Amino acid sequence: MSETIEHVKCLIIGSGPAGYTAAIYAARANMSPVLYQGTQPGGQLTTTNEVENFPGYPDGVTGPEMMLELQKQAERFDTDVRDGWVTKVDFSGPVHKVWVNDTKEIHCDTVIISTGASAKYLGLESEQKYLKLGGGVSACAVCDGFFYRNQEVVIVGAGDSACEEAHYLSKLCKKVTMLVRRDEFRASKIMEARVRNTENIDILFNTNTDEVLGDGQVVTGVRVKNNVTGAVSEIPATGFFVAIGHKPNTDIFKDYLELDETGYIINVPGTSRTNVEGVFVSGDAADHVYRQAVTAAGTGCMAALDAERYLAAKEAEVHV
Ligand code: NDP
Repeated sequence: MSETIEHVKCLIIGSGPAGYTAAIYAARANMSPVLYQGTQPGGQLTTTNEVENFPGYPDGVTGPEMMLELQKQAERFDTDVRDGWVTKVDFSGPVHKVWVNDTKEIHCDTVIISTGASAKYLGLESEQKYLKLGGGVSACAVCDGFFYRNQEVVIVGAGDSACEEAHYLSKLCKKVTMLVRRDEFRASKIMEARVRNTENIDILFNTNTDEVLGDGQVVTGVRVKNNVTGAVSEIPATGFFVAIGHKPNTDIFKDYLELDETGYIINVPGTSRTNVEGVFVSGDAADHVYRQAVTAAGTGCMAALDAERYLAAKEAEVHV
């Protein structure tokens, strides 16, 4: 074996709540986990301001702060947390091979994938500006809707997520304006009916977002354009929610793992197991339904326990 190849008992890819929770459990089970953080250490939560729905923080906590705490907790039990981006894997043989930054090769007994998913954004400069400022742009109504109680908000998207989130927001906010770019929804009929029948949801069809307006610190409105008539108008709003889909970060696994048609990893129901023995998945990379920090943490725990049991069973086979 070449000197550059490292052997690792448990490799965790990704540093959101799923990855760090898997690390805490794996480290405490003496699996000497190595965790690669990826390009966005801390994951999606580092783009959130205040997290108020993670149990155990009665006064709330900021997303970045919570991720630092999770990292510290994982390191307290000697998780080896490293910078680095996993660029390639080979799960075809009995040894699971992983390459970091295209150069470093690691051979793993078990791999826990916690690479998450990324919310899609429109890509407007003004949208990105207020997103980075934490000034009123969000891709998660369940996480951030609470901050807009009794206020007016705009949500863009026409799929099931947008309908679900618009409906969720309608219970908190004074008014929700929904921007649909075509003259019809993509969502299922039942979800569409729900938003159509909600009094304080205003649906604008054939409407594109031109600009997120603000005072330099926070969002104050949205300028929209009707793509049939060309009419431009401004909607006052303190929150701009983007619900145009998520992309799971699973491209590098597609040659080896079973993915659904949108790229989410398919796990054996009720477990974190994938179709490859010794490879486990946790968090949003396999979850397009719940997508919460607490559910990601829960599945991170499951992945570490499944990995530990897998290794124990293999060791037992060797000693028979
Ligand atoms: P989808 O891909 O289903 O929908 C994305 C929506 O965003 C579409 O309406 C699309 O418009 C719109 N969109 C995309 N890009 C833009 C853009 N640049 N500007 C404006 N609008 C844009 O994503 P979802 O997250 O809604 O759903 C993903 C999957 O998860 C689906 O299979 C869905 O059924 C499922 N899901 C199920 C739920 C449930 O059953 N409770 C809840 C949430 C999701 P267009 O239609 O014009 O392409």
